[in-house]
Amino acid sequence: QSTIDKIAAGEVVERPLSVVKELTENAIDAKANAITVEIKEGGISLIRVTDNGCGIPKNQVKKAFLRHATSKITSIEDLNYVESLGFRGEALSSIAAVAQVEVLTKTADDLTGVRYRIAGGREEEPEEIGVPAGTTFLVRNLFFNTPVRKKFLKQPQTEGGYVADMMEHLALSHPDISIKFIQNGQVKFHTSGNGNLKEVIYRIYGKDITDALIPFEKSEDGFCVSGFLGKPEINRSNRNFEVYFVNGRYVKNDVITKAVEEGYRAYVMQHKFPFFVLHFTMAPETIDVNVHPAKMEIRFNQGNEFYEKISRWIGEGLHAVEL
Ligand code: ADP
Ligand code: MG
Repeated sequence: QSTIDKIAAGEVVERPLSVVKELTENAIDAKANAITVEIKEGGISLIRVTDNGCGIPKNQVKKAFLRHATSKITSIEDLNYVESLGFRGEALSSIAAVAQVEVLTKTADDLTGVRYRIAGGREEEPEEIGVPAGTTFLVRNLFFNTPVRKKFLKQPQTEGGYVADMMEHLALSHPDISIKFIQNGQVKFHTSGNGNLKEVIYRIYGKDITDALIPFEKSEDGFCVSGFLGKPEINRSNRNFEVYFVNGRYVKNDVITKAVEEGYRAYVMQHKFPFFVLHFTMAPETIDVNVHPAKMEIRFNQGNEFYEKISRWIGEGLHAVEL
């Protein structure tokens, strides 16, 4: 296993969260409409991601673990786009460099599937095996061969919390995919995949919050906001319940956070933080996603304009309902 592989792995795989992110993104790219994620010990001892997507053809399983072996770049123009989202064809090779990986996969057309194991970059020959169509990745003992990096991990509970947050965001951004999350043998939530965002909110946040939601939808000149605002009485003590997506991706952005909070404040004196789940859709050229790909930060090219619009819309949206 080359040094360059281990270094590359460090950029992609920082903690269990990074592995779960990459594997679930792959499942979505494979057109899965049901994804199960299971973790044990915060994902340090086990991460399992099962999807019902297209599967990997037998003769391409080994190749998928080579660096830059992406099947997702089809033209030179794609490269820009692909790179900006971090799809560089090195997730699987990076994960296999620092963990014990097993993949079970079958395409719809094949009668049998394949099992392939690779650990710390050392592989076993693929074996033929009977499995359902789709793909399961098992990632065991993260950083088993890089103890220094393992030492930088936080307690399993903290690492598991990062994964759990990400799984919630994944479910909220994809109501059309059935998502099941299991932590230490316990099912944390399971969404139906019927496309109903309110139902996903119910599965994740429960009845009290779901009973206090205001549907919200507004759009102008290709800028569109939709989702749910929590009634002002569901005050939270931190921003963990301010969830929003820009063009389908969970992000952090000061303009949006402050503008929505301002919208609430304009309507009701609010000393704590509101609950909301909002999807923002806008022209890609209005935002810069490259600010911090890993930290999910984005920047607006014309922040002020959006700030005014969002805070005004939220204020109006709250004003329009009988609270
Ligand atoms: P990338 O996603 O950038 O292409 P990865 O290293 O994440 O690179 O994956 C390499 C390749 O393995 C993908 O291009 C895809 O062909 C295949 N692959 C990975 N995960 C899955 C999956 N869950 N279902 C089907 N194919 C997959
Ligand atoms: Mg990928």
